[in-house]
Amino acid sequence: MPKSNSDRIKFVTEDTLSNSFTELLDKEFKRKSTPESRSIFCPSSMTECDRRLMYRVYDLKSDIPSHCFKYESTQVSIKDRWLHYFDVFRGIKILEENYRVADGYLNMNGIIDAVISFDDSPVAAKIYGLDNTNFEKIKEKGAFKKHVVDMILNLWMSDINDGILIYENKNNQDYVVLHVTPYQPIVESMKKKCLDLLQYKMQGLIPQRCYDNNDSKECKVCEYKTKCWKKEDS
Ligand code: SF4
Repeated sequence: MPKSNSDRIKFVTEDTLSNSFTELLDKEFKRKSTPESRSIFCPSSMTECDRRLMYRVYDLKSDIPSHCFKYESTQVSIKDRWLHYFDVFRGIKILEENYRVADGYLNMNGIIDAVISFDDSPVAAKIYGLDNTNFEKIKEKGAFKKHVVDMILNLWMSDINDGILIYENKNNQDYVVLHVTPYQPIVESMKKKCLDLLQYKMQGLIPQRCYDNNDSKECKVCEYKTKCWKKEDS
């Protein structure tokens, strides 16, 4: 016979333990969301529109956790599986998982899914799960620019000379591995972008929009679209 609610209440309760655990989680989420504990710039978003990045900088005081800190659940399970492969495959050794890298001057923090030892050298690995359409795009045209820039910045901050991007098709587990090596011109241009944006911040300004209208691919998915294209701000 199914248990009634009153039966269940005996072993499923909100008690001191669950309340103090919730309290701890709330505290940690808040701590992770304070400006001091969050980077201004995240390598994975450096190819985005300057104005969008600037809105994010000004938004640091909001309760929304930094997107650097947030994980997408589907991506996490794919990452976990690949970390397991690295763990059990001969010839690969995991040196670090979720390795955090930073540059204090630019206030930039990044994360590398795994640093592995392969051929006796450290290799930074990042793993992405994609749908069919995006996976075919990768196979045809190579890695997405934002992922390459992200990896190059992470290599620069970690002093590692080799990076691999692993793209897995979420529908059939087919995969592609692409090698990324350091490229100083990209690092320099992203450093300049950060410094220019920090200047804007000091002056309390917002950069011009990067697009002529809000129909661009990036504007369509931008979290600041409404704010950005409001009449009085134009
Ligand atoms: S809506 Fe478009 S122009 Fe405005 S911040 Fe977003 S991406 Fe940039």
